[in-house]
Amino acid sequence: MSNLGFQSVYGMLNRDERVSCNRFFMSNTHHNYPNNDRFSNTNDKEFDIISCETNISLSSSDLIAFSVSFENDYLNIVSILKNSGIPPKASDRNASYPFIIAGGIACFLNPEPIAPFIDCFLLGEAEEILPAFLDIFIPSLSTTYDSSYENIKKRVSVEINGAYVPEFYQLSYDTDGNFLAILPIYDDIPAKISVQHIKDLSKISTTTQILTNDTTFDNTFLIEIGRGCHHGCRFCSAGFIYRPSRFYPEKNIVDAINEATLITDKIGLVSPTVSDHPSINNICANVRNTNTCGNDFNNCRVNTDEINPSNIKNSGIKISFSSLRLDSLNDETIETLVKSSVKTATIAPEAGSQRMRNIINKKISEEQIFSAVQRLVEHGIMNLKLYFMVGLPFEKIEDVKEIVTLTKKIKELFLEASRKNRKIGNITLSINPFIPKPTTPFQWRAMDSLSNFKKKVAIIKDGLKKIPNITIHAESSKTAMINAMLSRGDRRMADMVENPELFLKKTKEIENKNPEKTSMGKIIFSAIDLSAPLPWDILDTGIKKEFLIKELKRAELEETSPDCPMVECSSCGICRKL
Ligand code: SF4
Repeated sequence: MSNLGFQSVYGMLNRDERVSCNRFFMSNTHHNYPNNDRFSNTNDKEFDIISCETNISLSSSDLIAFSVSFENDYLNIVSILKNSGIPPKASDRNASYPFIIAGGIACFLNPEPIAPFIDCFLLGEAEEILPAFLDIFIPSLSTTYDSSYENIKKRVSVEINGAYVPEFYQLSYDTDGNFLAILPIYDDIPAKISVQHIKDLSKISTTTQILTNDTTFDNTFLIEIGRGCHHGCRFCSAGFIYRPSRFYPEKNIVDAINEATLITDKIGLVSPTVSDHPSINNICANVRNTNTCGNDFNNCRVNTDEINPSNIKNSGIKISFSSLRLDSLNDETIETLVKSSVKTATIAPEAGSQRMRNIINKKISEEQIFSAVQRLVEHGIMNLKLYFMVGLPFEKIEDVKEIVTLTKKIKELFLEASRKNRKIGNITLSINPFIPKPTTPFQWRAMDSLSNFKKKVAIIKDGLKKIPNITIHAESSKTAMINAMLSRGDRRMADMVENPELFLKKTKEIENKNPEKTSMGKIIFSAIDLSAPLPWDILDTGIKKEFLIKELKRAELEETSPDCPMVECSSCGICRKL
């Protein structure tokens, strides 16, 4: 419920008068389903998932739409279907079952691990595809009940850019079982699926549709202020798959803020680079000057049945940012955060050494890190969360030790600045293993072994153990390994998605044996040849492979690259496609 992609598709569907859209969740406090996390207990218990709105069963709907942001959620898709008495495999379903579509960033990075379960993927930004899909699907429903969905599938794969019907594509492997290609079985369907982008954000607004206190960002009205990121860090999908990065006009954002203040005092600005928005200062100034408007709920379209008006009137607006870039942090934004009683700032140096930051193209210097930390603490934001990655391509052990050195320097600065506030806050380090992601320059690189990951986390913990007020969280290597398999795997991964106990078996196998000697280990712990076909080559993201290879080579040379200019050039190739 804090996922704006999910909320905006819900809004889009319900604004279509031909559609009544209900929400269904795998686990949900309202309907207190047993928590059926497929890793904790693998035997799926049959229970029908019912909707939040009208308690209808999932299996009674005409269309099921999954919005998937994280690969590890792939397992829950099968769980939801199984628990609703719907055969997970599309090949086992006919038109007496709901038609199943899926979208979301995880799908348009690599849909193959869940391809056998989905009738049709809608790949790219929903605003560009969903209306066209509904215009074919809804009228066809009346002529489909007793047969298959063949005709709908054929029409959408021929007529809609970005629609991908996996059963119309067959896979081939070489004699060693290596993936070779995905080829269409019909001549009139596209050989590649063109991932869709909306060019001009000024025509849309992407905001919270249902406000609830029963979610991660409780009672927070989320407003998307930009899509994509122009900095191009070489490990990060958002920096490539959403190119060119775009910002919403200031007016759209201020209108959304004014609407939000009708019903809540908590607003979240969402984009990969909030502090880069060209009008961020005006937007912050607008928030600081906006007074809560009390209880005039009638003229807002957002569902308010879960909040109590009285505790809004007197509190003033609290604003939070989904991300803060160190190099574009200014006093305006910091002041807005302080006024919003933000106590912890999250910053992402990602790497300890300048060498490593150049390799990943995180164009931030130590001076910029120190200046940001100083200003945040001097303005009274007493806690810091620092994101670091280990196991990155071309990383040396010295680079890992530099994370310790950098954190110690930040701590000293932190202490000095805190003295003025006579309060010492906490520094939390979040250590994550590098996971090679599709459509990034590092997509060909191997993930570092689990033993190395553990060794490197130990170096950091050991180096900082004597420093008070520092907490270190390291990502679970098992979760990361499964995420890597689902990010890089081809359609054969679907067997494991359907039977997650196999994942546990495989991860144990990898943990106990030499990872690269296991079939699964090979997928994630080995580098891929630059000329090798990739399962996600079926997708045309617009980004040229040569561009990604050039970026990888620059990383090896420890060279940074300029930001995407966001105005038409031919560098990565995407603007040519749009
Ligand atoms: S072609 Fe140029 S402007 Fe367009 S997204 Fe790529 S780098 Fe950015």
